[in-house]
Amino acid sequence: MPAATESLVERCREIVEDLSLGEVRRWKEAHPGARAIGYFPVYAPVELIHAAGMLPVGLNGAGDRLDLQYADARFGSFICSIVKTTLEMGLTGLLDPLDGMLFSGICDSARNLAFVFERNLPGKYVDFLHLPQNPSSAASTEFLKGEYRRMGDALEKLGGRKLDDDALRASIAVYNENRKLLRDLYGLRAASPHQVRTSDIYLLQRAGNFLPVETHNELLREGLGSLADGEAKPRDSVRIVIEGAFCEQPPLDLIRLIEDAGCYVLDDDFLLGRRWFTGDVPAYGDPLESLASCYLNHSVYSSVRHDFRNRRHKLLVEKTQRLGAQAVLFLIAKFCEPAYFDYVLFKRELEAAAIPHLLLEFEEKAFTFDRLRTEVETFVESLLFD
Ligand code: SF4
Repeated sequence: MPAATESLVERCREIVEDLSLGEVRRWKEAHPGARAIGYFPVYAPVELIHAAGMLPVGLNGAGDRLDLQYADARFGSFICSIVKTTLEMGLTGLLDPLDGMLFSGICDSARNLAFVFERNLPGKYVDFLHLPQNPSSAASTEFLKGEYRRMGDALEKLGGRKLDDDALRASIAVYNENRKLLRDLYGLRAASPHQVRTSDIYLLQRAGNFLPVETHNELLREGLGSLADGEAKPRDSVRIVIEGAFCEQPPLDLIRLIEDAGCYVLDDDFLLGRRWFTGDVPAYGDPLESLASCYLNHSVYSSVRHDFRNRRHKLLVEKTQRLGAQAVLFLIAKFCEPAYFDYVLFKRELEAAAIPHLLLEFEEKAFTFDRLRTEVETFVESLLFD
């Protein structure tokens, strides 16, 4: 790996693994009086937060770096890790730099988390966004615009600053740039998976959770430049697509293990909300209309949203075939209901298309992966020597 890429990836790893939200604290020191708003996955309209002069902060749990002391008492044992570690971060002061939290109805656990937060952290702005579940309804765009307007009003009140359409259009433009750079990064990896490690682009992407989008854009441009310059010899590997990790994120070591065991990852759904739109959101006209319409009509498929116009099970097969992948690896967080409900349907569709797949379950707090390594290696060998 070129030295420039190595140091950039290392910098991103430090940002991502800093549970004290050091980048957010520094941003707030440099912007006295300004607010930072955390958002829970999968998707959040970060443009609204940005246009209100605030820092949107993506939260994806605490990984294996935090012991649960308090959150276990608020949730049953059958709840996914991200819900508990995010709450633990709140209860232990790690989220103190945040002035508010935004949630949406992706699943029952996330819905409950919003209200547990509200009750346990009084004084913090906590909002719950109702994202429409029926994109084909003519009323959905108006409904979503109304939700965005309501959220915008709350942000104005919190920040004491008017959220006007020009600011929102400018925010859409800068996030369009961010999503384009991420698409370029993903495109580079799909074209040259031997040259671009998934664990590296994962860190480059996730660092953006804690940085102003303008800074993240610079970082991505730097990353694209250095990754494109890298050289690596192709090796015997299986070309795969990863599905199921759209909310809780697998441990970094598990991502590395999958690559080291002989997988070239051509696409994944890590941090899916950062790449929610399939193209640019119009940065002209009515910005709320643009954001709402693109959420409903120009976005990726997801297990946390129904869209009967675009069946996600067929879309996974189409994507796998279009990329020339040989198999699908399901990487699903323990107790993630949306992912497990969909797995049944994905599996049926993949089997009908004769595409092999493997299911691996993970938890944030996992330190040894011996069993998973054996499973992936066996899967890779079965495909390589079939
Ligand atoms: S990991 Fe799954 S179950 Fe847990 S909050 Fe996310 S979508 Fe819900």
